[in-house]
Amino acid sequence: MAGYKVYVDTSKCIGCAQCYVACPNKVFAIINKKAVPVNQDACVGCRACIVKCSTNAITITPRDVYAFYTRFYKRT
Ligand code: SF4
Ligand code: SF4
Repeated sequence: MAGYKVYVDTSKCIGCAQCYVACPNKVFAIINKKAVPVNQDACVGCRACIVKCSTNAITITPRDVYAFYTRFYKRT
């Protein structure tokens, strides 16, 4: 399965650490009062962080969707 790309808009992030607490896979660290997705490869796309973030600073997008589907269709 393709993983997920985790993006934090630092202009919106207020460093509340709700994403850090909510994430089951410890994707985030709080560095200089901003959330930093230091462990993106562990993201499973559950969106718990997005639900908790009061400033809508987090975006989760599937990684390599195009590559994934290209491989899929080549096989069939
Ligand atoms: S929940 Fe949102 S505002 Fe709070 S630290 Fe995480 S990204 Fe920043
Ligand atoms: S979507 Fe889930 S696994 Fe991914 S960073 Fe957010 S809380 Fe963690």
